[in-house]
Amino acid sequence: MAELQQNFTVTIHGGLHARPASELVGIAKSFHSKIEILRDGKVANAKSPVKILLLGVREGDSITVMIDGDDAADAMARVSTFFEAGDNENTPPAAEGGAAAKPTAPITIEAAKAATPTHGIGASEGAAEGVAYHFFQSPLPDPSSLPALEVKGNSKEQELARYRNALARSSDEINARAKDDDPTGAEIVAALSEIAGDEEWQEQVTAHIRAGACALKAVLISGEETARSVEALDDPYARARAEDIRAVMRIIAFTLMGKELPSLDRVPYGAIVVAEEITALDLSTADLSRIGGLLCQKGASTSHAAIVSRAHGIPAVFGFEVSAAKLQRVSYVALDGSSGEVVLDPSEEVIARYRASIDAERQIAKQRLAFKEVQPVTKDGREITIAANIGSLGEIKAAKENGAMGVGLFRTELLFMDRRELPTEDEQLAIYEVALRAFEGQDVIIRTLDIGGDKPLRGVEFPAEENPFLGWRGIRMCLDTPSIFKPQLRALLRAAPAGKLKVMLPMVSDIEEVRATKQLIDECIMELDAEGKPYARFDLGIMVETPAAVLAAELFAKEVAFFSIGTNDLTQYVMAADRMNPTVAKLYKTDNAAVLNAVSLVCLAAQSAGIWVGVCGEAAANPDLARKFIERGVTELSMSPASILRAKQVVCEL
Ligand code: PEP
Ligand code: MG
Repeated sequence: MAELQQNFTVTIHGGLHARPASELVGIAKSFHSKIEILRDGKVANAKSPVKILLLGVREGDSITVMIDGDDAADAMARVSTFFEAGDNENTPPAAEGGAAAKPTAPITIEAAKAATPTHGIGASEGAAEGVAYHFFQSPLPDPSSLPALEVKGNSKEQELARYRNALARSSDEINARAKDDDPTGAEIVAALSEIAGDEEWQEQVTAHIRAGACALKAVLISGEETARSVEALDDPYARARAEDIRAVMRIIAFTLMGKELPSLDRVPYGAIVVAEEITALDLSTADLSRIGGLLCQKGASTSHAAIVSRAHGIPAVFGFEVSAAKLQRVSYVALDGSSGEVVLDPSEEVIARYRASIDAERQIAKQRLAFKEVQPVTKDGREITIAANIGSLGEIKAAKENGAMGVGLFRTELLFMDRRELPTEDEQLAIYEVALRAFEGQDVIIRTLDIGGDKPLRGVEFPAEENPFLGWRGIRMCLDTPSIFKPQLRALLRAAPAGKLKVMLPMVSDIEEVRATKQLIDECIMELDAEGKPYARFDLGIMVETPAAVLAAELFAKEVAFFSIGTNDLTQYVMAADRMNPTVAKLYKTDNAAVLNAVSLVCLAAQSAGIWVGVCGEAAANPDLARKFIERGVTELSMSPASILRAKQVVCEL
């Protein structure tokens, strides 16, 4: 049982007149809890439309909502949404007679329609339509709204026992989230579990209970105090733990309230998950095969959740800027993860259009399955490798199901960014070995850490930069930070015996960067020899993604084993057009003659030195561009797993 109360200022046009009053009553009746509205000393039962009307709540009035019952927190969240949405989200009162009043409703409806965007960011290709599955985190009760319980004598002991019991169940709940095949998720889980077991925090909660607070209030107050004191620290790594403390506090609070945490493990088959935000951790508890699509208010196409959805072929639109209140009212969604189009509560015609395009996509996908085992060769006899871009071990399955002929780009930064602490050498070794063994007999190209500027790393202080894309990132940052770079190189050397490992360096612009890396590798080898640890050497290549690497390709080709062209960055640097800036998107074109000439220069330099060239930027998955790259001499294309079968077909038809 929980008792909550919260104050609101009514912003609904005309106050709680018949229509909003009946909406509020409808909301109140959908919960078991007792819900009352207090205004000017008068109280009304929110489940009674008459009582609410008699209360005479006007626009601008201050009211207090009091809720008591086992679903009080959910009810308060829903009631808050109702009041906070105010006039924007609630239909104004019908005008009282007279032609002059008539335009009010249609104008408002049109304005509301105009305010709803039609597109978000296409984060994972494909069309989807289905019922909306709402995945919203309910707000926690405000501790000051919890009544001061007079917990005395035995009841204090009971309250302490309730807390200890909730803590134990929360720890089990946290640990149950770890999945054996997902080391990244497991690491996050371990960090949360550690926080739940923090003795100092437990002592604080106990002290609050002994001082007379109920267990829920004690957990909320001490959790927030601990999170705030950690936030005040200088160290960015320590600061990031405040977020973990709040996550654990939420789990314990939900357990105390007898409520289940929202989870994605029971999504109805084919439903579209609608959320404010979805994290990779949320997806880690989901049965992804049940999810028809994802629609999120926040997020970008480069987020880890987007990468996971692409890897599993789940259509997704992120960054769809509609209020959470509005998203919570949606019951059906159609979306297109390629164009970013979203239709909320679509008409029958729109649903029919979407179903037709989903059927067409399925037909094509079925036909393409025939290419899964194909080793693509162009009609003039050139063998082309179609490999996968991955960012975690969780994506290996999708890569293999789609016929990947190895890994052309393993972005290791996700291993570093998603964790609470930098991964140790041994942890990295274990991850690289799993990837190498999964692609036995096929090349696995692991890229060393490409981080910095726009992609900060927990525990590493980055300077503020005016132009992060021209700043301290990739190989520049790694060479300046051997404490991070060397464990990665050592882990790679130690993993090499497990398969056909190749390693490449990101953001290279000067041959000295390659030479310095080779020197570090030699140092690591000497250390491993001295420690008696087994290892093997690997081919070292570079990403060609800066104009400097293109213009000095002949020089680089003499000192590295292969080139992999990163068209995402190469396009932005050749065209001087930020890859994230939509205002210059018309210049950010990989098919511009300048970028294609750069690709030609790289291929010519590679041919004369006898090394091979691949492309691992997004453009590799574009059929027209793939043809242009192959014409110029590229022999490997690496892309998201979902694009591999199409690419194999394209090559065979060249
Ligand atoms: C690229 O720049 O093309 C590339 C593959 O690297 P990233 O997208 O990770 O910068
Ligand atoms: Mg790049």
